[in-house]
Amino acid sequence: MGKVTGFKEFERKDESYKPVKDRVKHYNEFTVPLKDKDIIEQGSRCMDCGIPFCHSGCPLGNLIPDFNHMVHQGEWQKASWILHSTNNFPEFTGRLCPAPCEKACVLGIIEDPVSIENIEKSIVERAFKEGWIKPQPPKVRTEKTIAIVGSGPAGLAAAQQLNRAGHTVTVFERDDAIGGLLRYGIPNFKMEKGIIDRRLAILKAEGIVFKTNVNVGVNYDVEELKKFDAVVLCGGATERRSLPTPGIDADGVVQAMDFLTQQTKVVFGQKIKDQVLATGKNVIVIGGGDTGSDCIGTSNRQGAKSVVNFEIMPKPPGHRSPTTPWPYWPLQLKTSTSHKEGVERNWLINTKEFVTNAKGKLTALKTVNVEWEMIPGERPKLIEVPGTEKTWKCDLALLALGFTGPESTLAEKLGIKRDARSNYKAEYGKYQTNIPNIFTAGDMRRGQSLIVWAISEGREAARQVDIYLMGKSDLATKNEEGDLVGL
Ligand SMILES: Cc1cc2nc3c(=O)[nH]c(=O)nc-3n(C[C@H](O)[C@H](O)[C@H](O)COP(=O)(O)OP(=O)(O)OC[C@H]3O[C@@H](n4cnc5c(N)ncnc54)[C@H](O)[C@@H]3O)c2cc1C
Ligand code: SF4
Repeated sequence: MGKVTGFKEFERKDESYKPVKDRVKHYNEFTVPLKDKDIIEQGSRCMDCGIPFCHSGCPLGNLIPDFNHMVHQGEWQKASWILHSTNNFPEFTGRLCPAPCEKACVLGIIEDPVSIENIEKSIVERAFKEGWIKPQPPKVRTEKTIAIVGSGPAGLAAAQQLNRAGHTVTVFERDDAIGGLLRYGIPNFKMEKGIIDRRLAILKAEGIVFKTNVNVGVNYDVEELKKFDAVVLCGGATERRSLPTPGIDADGVVQAMDFLTQQTKVVFGQKIKDQVLATGKNVIVIGGGDTGSDCIGTSNRQGAKSVVNFEIMPKPPGHRSPTTPWPYWPLQLKTSTSHKEGVERNWLINTKEFVTNAKGKLTALKTVNVEWEMIPGERPKLIEVPGTEKTWKCDLALLALGFTGPESTLAEKLGIKRDARSNYKAEYGKYQTNIPNIFTAGDMRRGQSLIVWAISEGREAARQVDIYLMGKSDLATKNEEGDLVGL
C-alpha cells in the first residue's frame, strides 16, 4: 500500500480538457495530463484492499493495487511491467475505456474512486517516453503458422500473444490501415491515430506480418487459410442496424460509421468524393450511445448549424441507480466531452418519418414521444404518447443505432456456426469454433462490446490456440474461472 492515509489526504484529480471553443477547431486529442506529482498522489489514494474489487471490474484482471503502489513509490518502470503483464495496449484502454474498475473500486463506496484509468495512461505514456517499451521478439520459433483475420484490438492482442509464444503470425485486414474500430470508428479527437502506429511499429519489429486491403472471403480465397496451422477470426460485429421508418433511403440519412470513417480519412489527407458533411446543417443524431456521442463531436467540429440527439430509452438517473449498486456497472447518465461541446439531448423519442423534398433530399424528421410499458414476464412494450407528434427541421440525420452482429461472409464461406444472437459461436473461455483449428474472439464472438473486452478475448483466445497447437501454454491471461494464469 502506497500511503496509509493517502485516501484521506488527497482528493481525486482527473485530467482536464482544453476549452470547448478551441478544441472544436481541430481533430486532435484535447486532454491536459496531470503532473507526475499529482499522479503519484493519486496512486497513494489506493487502499490496497484485502479483496480488490477493482480486479473483478476489469475484464483483463489488471493488477491495479500493484501498479498503483509502484506509481506511488515513483517506480514507473516496474509499474509499466505490471501493467503490461495483463494488458497489451494500456494506451488504448487508458484513453478510451469506460473504466469498470473504477466503478467497482472500494473507495468509491464513500469517496470518489481511485483514478485508475488516468494512472494507467500516465504509466504507459511515461514508458513510451523513456523508451522502456521495446520489441520482444520470441527467442525460439515453433514453425507453426497462424492467420488472424481482423486487426482491431482483439486481433492485435491475439497476434502479439501468439507471436510471443513463438508462432509465425500474419494479420489480414480489409481496410487500408490497421486498427479496426480504433482506426476508423473512434474519432481522432478521442484517440490520435499515431497512438496505434506507435504500437504497430513494436508489433512489426517483433515479427508480426500485417497485410492490409485483404478482405478474406472477398478478394482473398478462404481456401488460402487452410495453409495455416490455426486461424483466429477477429472480424468485429460490423453489421449496421437501420430503421424500418418511411424515408430511410432519403438523401441525407447516413450511417454514423460512414460519416465517422470519412472524417478520419480526411484528417489523414485522403480525398473523399462527396464527403458527408455537417457543415451549416441542422443535424439530428439518432442513438444515444458512444457512436452517437462521436457523431456529435464530429458534427460540431465540421461546423453544424445545430446538433440534436434522440434516444428511444428513458433518461438514466444522474447518480448510480439503486438497481445497480456498487460494485456493479452503474445505470447512470453519461455526459461525454462531445456532449459538452453542444447538443440538445432528447430521451423517449421515436422517429416516425424522414421527410424529403421533391428531389428526395431530407428536410425534416417527424417524431413522437414514447413510454415503455413493463409487463412482468414479457418484453417491454413501446407506447406512443398521443398528441406529442413533432416535426424537426433536419438536413442530415446520422444513424448511430449500433450493430446487429458480425457480417455473415466468413461464417458462410468457412462453415462456422453462429449463436442465437448471430455471433460466431465459440464457448467463452475456449474460443474454438465448430472447426477445430478456427478460433474467434472479440466483438465477432461476443457482439458489440468494449476495447477492454476485445483485448481480453484476444489474449485468452491466443492461450487456447497455443494449447491447441502445443498441448500447453505459458501465455499469461485471465482464465475461464476469472483467475490470472501464467504470470
Ligand atoms: C464509433 C464507435 C466508438 C466506440 N468507442 C468506444 C470507446 O470509447 N471505448 C470502448 O471501449 N469501446 C468503444 N467502441 C467499441 C470498440 O471499438 C469495439 O468493441 C472494439 O473495437 C472491438 O474490437 P474487435 O477487435 O473485436 O473488432 P473491430 O475493432 O471491429 O475490428 C475488426 C476488424 O476486422 C476487419 N475485418 C472484418 N472482416 C474481415 C475480413 N473478412 N477480412 C479482413 N478483415 C476483416 C474489419 O475491417 C475491422 O478492422 C466504439 C465503437 C464504435 C463503433
Ligand atoms: S478497489 Fe480501489 S482502493 Fe481497493 S485496491 Fe482497487 S483501486 Fe485500490
